[in-house]
Amino acid sequence: MKPAPFQYVAALSVEDAIALLSKYGSDAKLIAGGQSLVPMMNFRLARPEWLIDINRISGLAGIAQKNGALRIGSLTRYSELEASEAVQRSVPLLGLMLPHIAHKAIRNRGTIGGSICHADPAAEMPVAMLALDATFELRGPTGTRRIAADDFFIGQMTTGIEAEEILIAIEIPEIKNSEKHGFSEFARRRGDFALASAAAVLRFNGERISDHVRIAVGGLSERAERARAAEALLAGKAPTAALIEEAAKAAAAEVKAGSDLHATEAYRRSLIATQVKQALAVAVDHTSSTGAKK
Ligand SMILES: Cc1cc2nc3c(=O)[nH]c(=O)nc-3n(C[C@H](O)[C@H](O)[C@H](O)COP(=O)(O)OP(=O)(O)OC[C@H]3O[C@@H](n4cnc5c(N)ncnc54)[C@H](O)[C@@H]3O)c2cc1C
Repeated sequence: MKPAPFQYVAALSVEDAIALLSKYGSDAKLIAGGQSLVPMMNFRLARPEWLIDINRISGLAGIAQKNGALRIGSLTRYSELEASEAVQRSVPLLGLMLPHIAHKAIRNRGTIGGSICHADPAAEMPVAMLALDATFELRGPTGTRRIAADDFFIGQMTTGIEAEEILIAIEIPEIKNSEKHGFSEFARRRGDFALASAAAVLRFNGERISDHVRIAVGGLSERAERARAAEALLAGKAPTAALIEEAAKAAAAEVKAGSDLHATEAYRRSLIATQVKQALAVAVDHTSSTGAKK
């Protein structure tokens, strides 16, 4: 398959990219790693008349630690995140999750910002962003604004970003002493998108889970979602096996899952329960996640 004809322009700065987005409006698309946009163009699911390449913008990629948070430039590749000691140490959830995304070749090109803006309901990155309480910095013609991951993912491939805005950076709070992370996913084959995935961030007060409990689930009908009923069940309690089981069932019941080509609703909900249970078990036991791709 080949894409419909398009024009190409490389932006040399963020201001340049915003000016080009303003000029070409809905006829234009930014291209980062191209690992989602190009397949969509090849299938003629996307037909931008203008491709605005952001790969030459300096300062849009990179990882920095600042004020207890990790600031990750939107153009940072998955492979850079995987190789980063700061990421592995300060946000272990990303370390657990990244090997599940596609294959190495795709992780060498795909960017964190591209995945967040593409907002595929089966993608892993939005799930991690919700669990980690990430904040996104967006810039557009009227300036810079910040938006929480909780408010960003709206629906299937639909987000809170405006047409003339560009995602600049992602800020993720660094792990606290009392905090534990877990991730689990089920995909049919290595490299496939998840049929169901779950991420858990738990903070502890001694033996009990504190009020800071964040569970997010992916592989759903519309978008990655928080499992708030499951979070409420866990808050303030000791994480017994029975409680984890109960929370996993609550999560599977509360999120929006439907039937599609890949799985029936019942099968998907059963997978979600298993993934939430495993993500919680990984967090509680602080062992590594299962089934990671290489
Ligand atoms: C075979 C294959 C298997 C895959 N498997 C998985 C998988 O298991 N899990 C998974 O999560 N993903 C998977 N992917 C998708 C991959 O993760 C993509 O890299 C990612 O979704 C998009 O990142 P990108 O940098 O390539 O973005 P692009 O494809 O360049 O762009 C995606 C969208 O985001 C927009 N965009 C990009 N950057 C910005 C920005 N800074 N500001 C505003 N808008 C922006 C673009 O305009 C476009 O609409 C797979 C892809 C392939 C080809």
